[in-house]
Amino acid sequence: MKVCGACSGALFGRFFRAQEASVTGLYFEKPTPTEPATIELEYCKSCGFIRQMPDRTIHLNYERIVRGTAQQLPAYAADILSSLTRLGVKSDDFILEVGANDGTFLKELRAQGYRNLLGVEPSKQLADAARKSGFDILDAYFDRKLAADIRNAHGGARVVICRHTLEHVPDIVEFTKGIAAVLSADGVAVIEVPDADWLVINLFAHEVWDEHISYFRPRSLAALLGNCDLKPVRLERMRLRDTRNLVCWSVPASAAAAPCASDDEAGFEAVEGFQARWDAFAERLRSIVSASPAPVIAIGAAHPQLNFLNFAGLGAAVAALVDDDEAKAGRFAPLAKAVPIRSTAKILESVRQGTLLRTGFPYPAWEERIEAALGVYNVRSIKPYDILRLRP
Ligand SMILES: [Zn+2]
Repeated sequence: MKVCGACSGALFGRFFRAQEASVTGLYFEKPTPTEPATIELEYCKSCGFIRQMPDRTIHLNYERIVRGTAQQLPAYAADILSSLTRLGVKSDDFILEVGANDGTFLKELRAQGYRNLLGVEPSKQLADAARKSGFDILDAYFDRKLAADIRNAHGGARVVICRHTLEHVPDIVEFTKGIAAVLSADGVAVIEVPDADWLVINLFAHEVWDEHISYFRPRSLAALLGNCDLKPVRLERMRLRDTRNLVCWSVPASAAAAPCASDDEAGFEAVEGFQARWDAFAERLRSIVSASPAPVIAIGAAHPQLNFLNFAGLGAAVAALVDDDEAKAGRFAPLAKAVPIRSTAKILESVRQGTLLRTGFPYPAWEERIEAALGVYNVRSIKPYDILRLRP
């Protein structure tokens, strides 16, 4: 039994268990059979932290993963930058970004006038991409050893930025203690993670993803920080398209500032009941889809869509996926069977009957364009989560 990384609690209960057709991010030239994987999450009965079961954690090698984030920078990144100015962070203060990806956020910092910047990024290709943009990048996994090396070379960091990285990290205590260790006495750490309360409240199982080992809510994030010599002083929930993130500002535990509130929205009964609610929803959705005209076309072929279709047991019912990403269109995605991925244009010119599954969650305008074009041919559409709002 591995204790809770956030609060050291030892009592866990099951949160969610589902089958996926393969681990993440595989698209094939030809229909290719895949090895099914089970994803299993548990929750801490003390602090509500949700994690992959420690003995079943799906390990991924981020040194080889290439997924640039240039398209993912939210509008509220500007608020983070203006807060740094308000906090008196000066242009030559040392700023470290842990999980710098391709340099997307470092570019924002540089544009704001900050010039003493360092990034840590384990993916060699992403690190090289950031270097090509002129940044100083260490391609390594971040831990206390690396934090000590950075501190020796650069001094304590006035700011540590860590966006959408902590949830991927196997040892969250080692990692977070590293952030605390590299932070100067007057430093501030900005940690951004998906808000798992949003997933629980909305029954958004499609946000469960094998790349995410940890699922934080305010209380568990604050508990982790407290466990690692940091103190949260500002915690905000930020909407981004169909998701919500936590942006948490913390300072060294020894600083004078008062800690902020860190209350969860979803109580333990919502966490405990998640699987049963999902199973009932998925069963109802399967029966609606199986009674609908073929072919069934689902919108999107990225991980939220594949997760949704796999977890809902709809993998065998889907005839094609729509996606315009060059890495996907024309290839096959791993569902219960290999499913072809077609561009929007190909779908619009070829589909004249059937059912559209609106699984393009972050992109309603794209869904509506496809729906309107195919509606002419009597192709009906199903908006999956709307079923939750209808009476059985
Ligand atoms: Zn806990």
